[in-house]
Amino acid sequence: MKKRIYSQMTAIAAIASFATMLLVAFVCYELFCGQILDDLRTDAYLLKEADNLEGILKSDEIVSGGLLRVTWVDGRGEVIFENNADAAGMNNHSGRPEIVQALAEGEGQAVRKSYTVQKSSFYYAVRLEDGSVIRVAKEADSIWSVFAGILPAVLVVLVLLLVLCMVIARFLTKSLLAPIEKIAQDAEHPVEEETYEELVPFVETIRKQHEDILRSAGVRQEFTANVSHELKTPLAVISGYSELIENGMAAGEDIVRFAGEIHRNSNRLLTLIDDVIRLSELDASEREEEFGMVDLGEIAETCVDMLQVHAEKHGVDLRFEGERCFVYSEKRMMEELVYNLCDNAIRYNREGGKVRVAVKNENGQPVLCVEDTGIGIGKEHQERIFERFYRVDKSRSKSTGGTGLGLAIVKHIVAKNRAVLALESEQGEGTRITVTFEAVFYLGAGRGPGHLGEP
Ligand code: ADP
Repeated sequence: MKKRIYSQMTAIAAIASFATMLLVAFVCYELFCGQILDDLRTDAYLLKEADNLEGILKSDEIVSGGLLRVTWVDGRGEVIFENNADAAGMNNHSGRPEIVQALAEGEGQAVRKSYTVQKSSFYYAVRLEDGSVIRVAKEADSIWSVFAGILPAVLVVLVLLLVLCMVIARFLTKSLLAPIEKIAQDAEHPVEEETYEELVPFVETIRKQHEDILRSAGVRQEFTANVSHELKTPLAVISGYSELIENGMAAGEDIVRFAGEIHRNSNRLLTLIDDVIRLSELDASEREEEFGMVDLGEIAETCVDMLQVHAEKHGVDLRFEGERCFVYSEKRMMEELVYNLCDNAIRYNREGGKVRVAVKNENGQPVLCVEDTGIGIGKEHQERIFERFYRVDKSRSKSTGGTGLGLAIVKHIVAKNRAVLALESEQGEGTRITVTFEAVFYLGAGRGPGHLGEP
């Protein structure tokens, strides 16, 4: 970028200098020509006004010395006098433009360029009282030979100008790009007051992205540490019990109990690993890759049926009430969403408690509501329970088979579906979690759904 700006600036400066010089040379040459014609006009009128023209033509040093070419022709164009040649041998001048003009209008002028000799001839003619015409002429270098003459000087000036332009361009490029380079060197702390106005949004984006990268790196690090920690406990239990059996330190009923512990902890490990894999899948996949129209009502009803045994085990009354309600989503995601919310509502409930799962259409928007009469969640925990591995009561979570990742998966699914999640909970009273989806209208087979409000 630096190189490009620098070379473009230098090129512009070089072209501008060269063009200016050419223009100045042309203008000067035109002025020079005008000056010559003015001088010739003065000379011609001086000769016209002279009392003794013939005498002057013969005696005047300027004329006879050939410094000024003078031609005198009569009214028919025949040459009477010519100081640079023999008048008798000269052809008729009546066709020369300056003579024609002088005969008609009283005075005339002409410039004849000779490309071969690289000279230009300037003529000025005035008609005398007796009808004859006196013409003075001068030769001057043509514009090309003037150019050729001044070319070395022009080149020297051009080179000097170019060097100067290069120095200035280098300086300007450097100072122009300094703020950008500063940002590039220290993206974490871009100095805003030294930045161009146009770059402020760009700097803002970089800063936000940088913060996001740092934040997600932190979250990932914390997550890895948490996963390792969560894996360690059941593995330690499995290792401990199996060692006891291996060393023959368990007998009879103990072996069955130890095997039971090993079995329970292995299951916990499997569930945990499943949840971790699912979370990273949700993290990685793009939205809507497997999306289609799914009946949320049907999914919720099936899920409630499946969880009946689980609910009975906890002494909880689990019921579904609702209708067919389509959402544009992925079946597996909807199953996980309903399952995780219902599972929590059962596990964090009390003997004789209730869980109501409802699916309905509210103003065209599909809504899933899972309500329980369980232990509730204290205000101070409500914001955090969707974080990975955050549990209000760790031992209750673990003893009921929780991984601490259920609501984190719910949060991910809700975000992927552009749905809105609402939590209402009163400690000791119960919890209600509502997920409101975007309104969907069905366009017909093969055309996919449309979203209200979107063109
Ligand atoms: P877990 O596997 O521990 O249940 P979740 O992510 O599903 O993890 O939930 C996080 C925490 O939120 C739980 O440990 C529990 O303390 C609290 N929680 C979730 N759902 C409910 C509920 N319906 N009633 C009371 N507490 C809940």
